[in-house]
Amino acid sequence: METEQPKQKSSPHVLIFPCPAQGHVNPMLKLAELIAIQNLHITFLNTKYIHNRLIQFNDDIQDLLECYPKLQFKTISDFHDDEEKHPGFGEKIGDVVVALTLYGKPLLRDVIVSEKISCLIVDGIFGDLAIDLAHEFGIQLITFRTVSACCLWAYLCVPKLIQCNELPIRGDEDMDRIIRNMPGMENLLRCRDLPSFKRLAKENEHIALDHVVFQNQQSLKANALILNTFEDLEAPILSQIRLHFPKLIIYTLGPLHHHLNTTKKTSSSSSSFFKADRTCMTWLESQPLKSVVYVNFGSITSMKGEEIIEIWHGLLNSKKQFLWVIRPNMVQEKGLLKELEEGTSKEQGLIVGWVPQEEVLSHKAIGAFLTHSGWNSTLESLVYGVPMICWPYFSDQQINSRFVSEVWKIGLDMKDVCDRKVLENMVNDVMVNRKEEFLKSAMEIAKLACKSVSCDGSSYNNFRDLIEYIRSTSP
Ligand code: UDP
Repeated sequence: METEQPKQKSSPHVLIFPCPAQGHVNPMLKLAELIAIQNLHITFLNTKYIHNRLIQFNDDIQDLLECYPKLQFKTISDFHDDEEKHPGFGEKIGDVVVALTLYGKPLLRDVIVSEKISCLIVDGIFGDLAIDLAHEFGIQLITFRTVSACCLWAYLCVPKLIQCNELPIRGDEDMDRIIRNMPGMENLLRCRDLPSFKRLAKENEHIALDHVVFQNQQSLKANALILNTFEDLEAPILSQIRLHFPKLIIYTLGPLHHHLNTTKKTSSSSSSFFKADRTCMTWLESQPLKSVVYVNFGSITSMKGEEIIEIWHGLLNSKKQFLWVIRPNMVQEKGLLKELEEGTSKEQGLIVGWVPQEEVLSHKAIGAFLTHSGWNSTLESLVYGVPMICWPYFSDQQINSRFVSEVWKIGLDMKDVCDRKVLENMVNDVMVNRKEEFLKSAMEIAKLACKSVSCDGSSYNNFRDLIEYIRSTSP
């Protein structure tokens, strides 16, 4: 009698699909490389617009393909075919996300079929885009949330906050009102520390709030969740998420950039949407130890002329050296950038359009980081033990900066204020008056971050479990 042979498992093939924004592509590409090192097939799916930028500004994208023969890039349309009118990846990124969420499913299906995908790792910002597809093909769906765990938890608490009448924020509300009913963060957050979607969600803007809540809940209907954080950093918050979503497997793998660097034992490849100006590295070489304030507000923040002027005077008056990144598309006022460059002495400051940020933050001349508190920037700063001055702009940045100043105590929060004197004082506090205090706590957190990605650390072990999960669940 013939015995039935056990069905041969095919080799797993993972599809990674990030939101087409810098702060999403960066960590998800690090994850792709980590998985490629495990010799699994990986397809990294970008919109055409983003892929063209990656190729244009990063020579090492080609090197990645040579280094990992099982890694490939594929592109799909983002439904904004007119290059001239493309919303880009800045403040109008929402237009692209909405188009992909509404119309992207058939395109995603085509890639799943043509590449014989066995596991989907999809950006949580797309909500339930891939749930039906995962069911249809009987494959695993893993959601990747690129925000901090504290931000995700804040979103998930919104229904409870509405029930307790703590939300929405009223039009005439005192923004210092304390939020009480958020388990794990009781009495820590003020209205102004809530992710900005909720801050905007005043009574008559309930729909926006409902939408954010819905998308977040949908994104957790996956089989598993990946977060770019580490257990020691956000333990109480992670416990809350696990308590409320007991069936969801949560893999904390962060800080992913450092995880990859530690695994490769070299610095990882870049995935910038702009050409990095490397003259800043030569300039940094000539600066004394921990003497420079590094200023960068990320890839999306847009600033008014008067805000830029306040920041500039604050920096000049602090008398500290500074390296300031002002993206080409950040300043609307004609002539302002030239005015800043001409009014800054070469001895005190350097202004450039884009830098290799990880390299800058790891440089010994950097003493503090004036940041918009994007989650990647926050993680990159804390890995190198650089204290922060936070000027959050939107989304998770409001809550990240609160955690930097009040929970981890590795910096100061300038939220909702843009004033030269306040900045001057904060620079002096972080660089001089309270320097030892901030450096000590920053170094302690940096050590924990390094431990988490080293052999037997939490992120290291979780990544091993994730690979095992992908292998064992592949059809
Ligand atoms: N970045 C960079 N050079 C720059 C500015 C930003 O390499 O001049 C990188 C930075 O290292 C980080 C990402 O772009 O990995 C920005 O992500 P983040 O979450 O901090 O902020 P976002 O741009 O999404 O607001």
